[in-house]
Amino acid sequence: MKASNNTNLTQANALTIDVEDYFHVEAFSSVVKRTDWGNKYPLRVEKNTHHILNILEQHNVKATFFVLGWVAEACPTLSRAIVAGGHELASHGFSHQHANKQTQETFKQDIIRSKHLLEDQSGVRINGYRAPSFSIGQKNTWAFETLYQAGFIYTSSTYPVKHDIYGTPEWPRFKHLRQEGIVEIPIPTLEVFNRNVPIGGGGYFRLYPYALSRYFIQRFKQQTQQPFSFYFHPWEIDPEQPKMRGISMKSRVRHYLNLPRMEPRIHQLLSDFNWDTMFNTYQLHGLVNDEEPSNQEDSTQRLFSLGQLR
Ligand SMILES: [Zn+2]
Repeated sequence: MKASNNTNLTQANALTIDVEDYFHVEAFSSVVKRTDWGNKYPLRVEKNTHHILNILEQHNVKATFFVLGWVAEACPTLSRAIVAGGHELASHGFSHQHANKQTQETFKQDIIRSKHLLEDQSGVRINGYRAPSFSIGQKNTWAFETLYQAGFIYTSSTYPVKHDIYGTPEWPRFKHLRQEGIVEIPIPTLEVFNRNVPIGGGGYFRLYPYALSRYFIQRFKQQTQQPFSFYFHPWEIDPEQPKMRGISMKSRVRHYLNLPRMEPRIHQLLSDFNWDTMFNTYQLHGLVNDEEPSNQEDSTQRLFSLGQLR
């Protein structure tokens, strides 16, 4: 059943998946060493992403997959499977290091490495980027320019909420063209009593009862007349994942809360609203110049000017 016959409510929304594994998340970074990724902690992301591809096929939904370069390297056929399913392939960076904890040079290397790897594996141009934990803010606005220079046309890397790990509560809430030349599509929020309530997915979607999330989405679309966008992770539909030891109660709650309820809720969400890729939903076609040379030549040309940045 669709949410409503109201035109705005039936318009497409962007479905996005941040393709990383359970051991990549920020909440575990104090106990998980990078050298343990895929070793001490076995890989589950490939199987879980294929499961998501099957769910999307059942609902005839296309989505945007922001794939971590580390995952693409560990699972070299995954990018192609995503593209073969008719979905949009995009980048979540390479190493899952927060953009606000990197220097501009390290960030540049990280995003270029991920972009070129995904393009080499899939044969398609990578247009979109999402920073780990929405880590672009006031202190690292240079990231937008670096992304633009590297050949990305859009990013979805800001969350205008107050949060202990991320958040830019005073920044724009809707899609906008940045002065650096790149489009930013913030994670959706609902304005309640002059505060932005996070409603874009992940842990909040697992926390709220489903009916409340559905109400928030309907309210957002009616209030703002904007498309909604939603994000989740492959590990969120995997209640069988190994349990991490030695983490704080807060991290434990954030990561494991309502995991068994996630998959049925995703099915419900896909039935209740219309979904498409970020690229289609936000009508980004006009920003890609088909006459450009090959992707990597193009980004290399743009990068020549990066030396002048600071
Ligand atoms: Zn992530």
